[in-house]
Amino acid sequence: MDSAKRTASDLAKQGKRQADLLAAQNKLAKIQRQLGILVYDLARKGEENPLLVKKYIAAIAAIEAEIRDLKGGHPMQENAQKCTLVNVHQEPEAVNCPQCGAEVQKGAMFCSSCGAQL
Ligand SMILES: [Zn+2]
Repeated sequence: MDSAKRTASDLAKQGKRQADLLAAQNKLAKIQRQLGILVYDLARKGEENPLLVKKYIAAIAAIEAEIRDLKGGHPMQENAQKCTLVNVHQEPEAVNCPQCGAEVQKGAMFCSSCGAQL
């Protein structure tokens, strides 16, 4: 009886970690894409915004660390990777920055105009 309970609770924990991992991987993919859009946009306009780029890189590093923790040699990481690829195909829409009103990609972590965290 006790061992059955323990197993169920372990499975629940594993499921939670799997969900957290998926969420983190989705977040990472989103931020990486945002950074790509930002760098492309800046390069196209011949502008630079190293502060904002640094913010994105710091955010990416934080999520990568989170993913490393969540994985921790977890055998299900390959499946998680596949699910992430499927989930990434939600195209962003533009929204307005609450700070400066500039148009930013939906899901962006920082405003590309004023750098406010969204
Ligand atoms: Zn802004």
